[in-house]
Amino acid sequence: MTDNAQRRNIDIAQTFQIEGLDVRGRLVRLGSALDRVLDAHGYPEAVSAMLAQTLTLAVTLASALKYEGVFTLQIQSDGPISLLVADITSEGAVRGYARYDEGRVAEAAGGDGAEVPRLLGQGYLAFTVDQGQDMERYQGIAELDGATLADCAHHYFRNSEQLETAIFLAARPLGDDGGPVGRMRAGAMMVQRMPHQKVDEMEAEDGWRRAVALLASLSEDELLNENLDHDALLYRLYHEDGVRAFSAHDIFHQCRCSRDKVANTLKSFPRADVTGDDGSASVVCEFCKADYTFTPGDLDDLFGPPDV
Ligand SMILES: [Zn+2]
Repeated sequence: MTDNAQRRNIDIAQTFQIEGLDVRGRLVRLGSALDRVLDAHGYPEAVSAMLAQTLTLAVTLASALKYEGVFTLQIQSDGPISLLVADITSEGAVRGYARYDEGRVAEAAGGDGAEVPRLLGQGYLAFTVDQGQDMERYQGIAELDGATLADCAHHYFRNSEQLETAIFLAARPLGDDGGPVGRMRAGAMMVQRMPHQKVDEMEAEDGWRRAVALLASLSEDELLNENLDHDALLYRLYHEDGVRAFSAHDIFHQCRCSRDKVANTLKSFPRADVTGDDGSASVVCEFCKADYTFTPGDLDDLFGPPDV
C-alpha cells in the first residue's frame, strides 16, 4: 500500500448505515491531524493520550450533528489533568489543548486503575455548538461518571434525550511496529439506533443488540491499524446485515487564532492590565502556542497614546 492510500485511512470521519438494522454509525480515525495538535505542546504521554481521545470523541459527536460553526467538547476536573478542550468546525478543522499538573500526572500515569478516576478525577464534560452571534448555543453536560471517556459519553447519552448510542474509543502511541515512537493514533466507532424503524420492535431490539455486540468485538488493533482500509473494517464487522458507507470527510488541524482577534481581546481590558513591565503585551494561543507580541507602539495604535 502506498503512503497516499494509507493517508486516506486516517484523518477521516465516515458515516455508515447498517441497512438491515436501522442503525447508523460513525467511524473516526485520526493520525497526522493529532500530530499537528500535539506537536505544539510536548505533553507527557498520558496527557497526549487523553487529549487524543477527547479530540476523537469531539469529532465523533460533532459528525452526528447538523451544524454550521464550532462544536466544542470541554472536560474539567479536579485530578492531575484539570482541563481538556477540543473543538471542531463544520469544515473539519480540529484543535485542542490540555492543562495538567506535571508532578501529579507523573505520579498517576504509572498507577493502576481506570484512567478517568486516576487521571481526571471528579468533574464533568460539556458540549457546546456555537453557530455564530445570532444563533443558538446548544449545550449538553454530564458528570465524569465512568472508567473511560467512552463510558462517560455513554452516561451522557443514557441521561439525556438522545438516541441510544454505543461508542468504542481508543488512543495509543505508535510503537515498534507502527511507526515513529511518540506519535499518537486514535479512533472511534459509534453506533446509534435510528428512531424511524422499518422493522417490528422485537426485531429492532435484537438488531440493536447485535450492532452493539459487533461493535464490542472490534479490537483496538483493528481500529488503529492504518493499513486496514476503513471500508474493509466496516465490512468485517457488519457485512452480514449489509453496511453502506457514505463518503468520508477529511479532518485536519487548523487553529483559528489571529493577531486581529488577540488585538480585539486586549482592547476589551484596561491597557494597564495587559501591559508588562517593559510596556509591551504578549499573548500565547493556548491551542497552537502562536505567540502574539504587541510593542508599546502597537499598543498606542490599539488604545491610543498612554496618559502622561
Ligand atoms: Zn492558535
